[in-house]
Amino acid sequence: MSTNREPIGVIGTGYVGLVTAAGFAELGSEVYCVDIDSEKIEGLNNGQIPIWEPGLEELVAKNKDRMHFSTDLGKALEHTRLLFVAVGTPPTYSGDADLSAVNAVVDAMPASEEHALVMKSTVPVGTGETIKRVFAEQNKGFKYVSCPEFLKEGSAIKDFMEPDRVVVGDDGDWAGDAVVELYAPLDAPLVRTDIKSAEMVKLASNAFLATKISFINEIANVCEETGADVVEVARGMGLDDRIGPKFLQAGIGFGGSCFPKDVAALKQLAGNSGYHFQLLNSVIEVNELQKRRVISKLQKHLGKLVDKRIALLGLAFKPNTDDMREASSLVLSSRLQAAGAHVRAYDPVAEEEARKLIRGVSFKASALEAIEGADAVVLVTEWPEFADLDLNEVREAMAGDLLVDGRNFLDPAKVRAAGLLYEGIGRAASGTRQEA
Ligand code: NAD
Repeated sequence: MSTNREPIGVIGTGYVGLVTAAGFAELGSEVYCVDIDSEKIEGLNNGQIPIWEPGLEELVAKNKDRMHFSTDLGKALEHTRLLFVAVGTPPTYSGDADLSAVNAVVDAMPASEEHALVMKSTVPVGTGETIKRVFAEQNKGFKYVSCPEFLKEGSAIKDFMEPDRVVVGDDGDWAGDAVVELYAPLDAPLVRTDIKSAEMVKLASNAFLATKISFINEIANVCEETGADVVEVARGMGLDDRIGPKFLQAGIGFGGSCFPKDVAALKQLAGNSGYHFQLLNSVIEVNELQKRRVISKLQKHLGKLVDKRIALLGLAFKPNTDDMREASSLVLSSRLQAAGAHVRAYDPVAEEEARKLIRGVSFKASALEAIEGADAVVLVTEWPEFADLDLNEVREAMAGDLLVDGRNFLDPAKVRAAGLLYEGIGRAASGTRQEA
């Protein structure tokens, strides 16, 4: 790979920042990473990767000579023109995006005609305009580019290297050109547009995907009432090119650091600008109710949950990540405990993160340990290793025989063949019917 590539700065070394940094280093750039978390920076300087993301550790190790980590902005400003911003934008209590980290970055910038901020963080439409105004008021001369990030945790490296599209929103100046140039080797479709439209592409994309999930979850709920099987229904729908098969898997709701907050942020943004985004209200409400449906499925078979031992398989909001932000397991474990159940749980990688957020749950070192003596098992996250569970062993280890498959991940016929009672989400044969 060419070493004549533009050096860049990356501010914020979380999922997006670190993957972006490692990705551009792999493409040949010197990358100057900055974070306010000194422990994280110290760890990174010692080769420790603070997050679990497949392939990331190897990619950072491979490019360690081109990757520099510091808490000090100085080196990044000295060696680069483009400062990619990848700090968190979590939801506030009202659902608006909390821009305090973004604002701190903006305030930390010196006056310079030669630098540009490139916004990777997901921000409300209009943020770029506000930041440009602040730069102008402070006579800072900074350029601004919106370059929203679409990577998915769990496949983030591949998503960086093979993006479906690259979106660059700018004022048609050198900074936008330089960002386009940086992404050129990836040969991805480019959407070069104005800043506000770029900001909206990100929010609208996530809101649409969340809508698709809530839609199929409602179809699943109607399937349960009518005897149809949502897996078959989704298969039939997904073959329609206009619909497509992705994001049509019914389950116990979406979570993660992006969908819930971005949907809420778009709803708030619309509301703040005078438009009541009715559809998104329903998307959010359906998702909240969906997380709780497992409780009624358990109650249907076990009656009151007081003193029942429930095993949760998987805690992360999806497989291949240790991210616990807004995971369905958070709601589920606290609802179960509120109903008097004893909850034990196993996750292949998210236990450490989960321990910070979940109280009163007994964490186990393996799926079988969690299952031992359980009255019911709930599959919460579809980690690949759960497909290899020996279902006869599961049946023998359990005190009860109920398996609630919150992700429609297992083959109901195989589960039943092992003598277990299978409850999926929106599946015709769920519950008491024994035929496959
Ligand atoms: P994260 O919480 O994993 O990382 C944010 C990092 O920024 C942390 O290391 C934090 O210490 C650092 N930070 C905070 N304030 C700082 C400051 N003033 N200066 C320097 N560093 C600072 O966040 P993330 O998941 O990487 O998300 C970052 C942004 O990207 C968010 O806006 C998010 O919505 C968006 N995004 C995330 C994903 C994803 O899958 N995680 C995907 C696309 C977009």
